[in-house]
Amino acid sequence: MEIKLNRRQLLSLAAGSGAALATSGYANGARAQVATKARIVIIGAGAGGTALANRLADRLQGAEITLIDPRVDHLYQPGLTLVAAGLKPADYVLSKTTDWLPKSVNLIQEAATAIDAETQIVATEGGQCIAYDFLVVAPGLVLDHDAIDGFHLDMVGKDGIGALYAGPQYAAATWQAAQAYVETGGVGLFTRPATEMKCAGAPLKHTFLIEDIARNAGTRGKLDMHYMANNDSLFGVPIVSEKVRMLFGDRQIDPAYSHVLRAIDAGAKTATFDTPEGAVTRDYDYIHVIPPQRAPEVIRQSGLSWVDKWTDQGWVECDKATLRHLRYENIWALGDVAGVPKGKTAASVKWQVPVVEDGLIAAIEGRDPTETYNGYTSCPMITRVGRAMLIEFDYNNNLTPSFPGIIAPLEELWISWLMKEVALKATYNAMLRGRA
Ligand SMILES: Cc1cc2nc3c(=O)[nH]c(=O)nc-3n(C[C@H](O)[C@H](O)[C@H](O)COP(=O)(O)OP(=O)(O)OC[C@H]3O[C@@H](n4cnc5c(N)ncnc54)[C@H](O)[C@@H]3O)c2cc1C
Repeated sequence: MEIKLNRRQLLSLAAGSGAALATSGYANGARAQVATKARIVIIGAGAGGTALANRLADRLQGAEITLIDPRVDHLYQPGLTLVAAGLKPADYVLSKTTDWLPKSVNLIQEAATAIDAETQIVATEGGQCIAYDFLVVAPGLVLDHDAIDGFHLDMVGKDGIGALYAGPQYAAATWQAAQAYVETGGVGLFTRPATEMKCAGAPLKHTFLIEDIARNAGTRGKLDMHYMANNDSLFGVPIVSEKVRMLFGDRQIDPAYSHVLRAIDAGAKTATFDTPEGAVTRDYDYIHVIPPQRAPEVIRQSGLSWVDKWTDQGWVECDKATLRHLRYENIWALGDVAGVPKGKTAASVKWQVPVVEDGLIAAIEGRDPTETYNGYTSCPMITRVGRAMLIEFDYNNNLTPSFPGIIAPLEELWISWLMKEVALKATYNAMLRGRA
């Protein structure tokens, strides 16, 4: 089905929503100011930490807000998929961390190295010890490339190896390798890890985009493409998994289930996978690597992680509705690091930030919080250059379309592509400033 929208309708959709990232809810109206001398520390100035710092700075009078992050550059990570398909330059995803912060927030440009939740102190790599009354942990996640035997980031872009998650220069190098594959053809293996991961749609998007680019280049017949799923499905939401399976069938992309990348031999151009039947080695001409993903070391060493879940990954133990730590009442988890069943997307961060803001201010005011997070996760699943499915869902795998009757979630639409290609970044930026 092709929907027909005139230019005005289109612009109002994009501007008013930002869809995948925004849609509705907590626009910054006149919000009650709260006077406090609370010391608030936020670890991580990425999507979540920056948005929260702006909202708290706007809301609290007299609070001491400290943001800890060593990274000079801010990365708009949803753009990496576009960079790795040659659709955007590497600098499309780059800005400066300081560009997004209000003057009243104290930025410490160092890594947090230890958290003592009992004494309420965060230590930094430069030796500072920062005391807090309230702590928000938002350091994202780490990509464990070392877990793939034989793989090193220096290999990306050469000899048919891509790894777009690793950052802008690696996403651009991935495009070099993918472009060569589109020209010369052969066996392509598109992998994903068995751990939780951010934007679980991104490995699929890369696969679809390379297929489409080859088709448009007239070389598709030379490509033998395989998607290596980590378990028996192609996506965590069953109805979406089935849709992807059908699209793969139409596009002659062969899914291999329960194949988890363990090792690469770049010289021999072979990859070894763990499968239920044991290790399996496959030849490749192009391989896209997405490594296991875990909470940063500072979290895993802090005692804040779940002890009976995700023990190899270390996500923060928190209530899935309030994001408040289950053992430490003055600590919240925000973004990718949160140990909740869904939600490792920037779109989820958009919905989590007001919940943490409300929980923290409620604690300051001595009242019960009112906001909760329902697991909202969004993935503008690109299926071709110029086509995407705007997939939104919650903890219960219910599809939660933002524009029912206008944008069907499981249809490949140009409007959904625009949401990813145009509206998402504008809305992401508004979110960083605390305005979405
Ligand atoms: C390829 C790709 C495609 C994606 N596509 C989409 C998409 O289409 N839609 C979508 O909604 N989301 C998408 N995402 C996911 C989205 O970018 C993340 O979910 C989001 O950025 C998470 O925000 P965060 O604040 O938790 O972490 P981040 O934004 O990663 O920020 C974490 C910050 O913490 C800092 N930090 C780390 N360790 C420490 C430490 N020890 N001390 C202090 N600071 C520290 C880091 O320097 C970083 O600045 C995509 C991600 C990738 C990689």
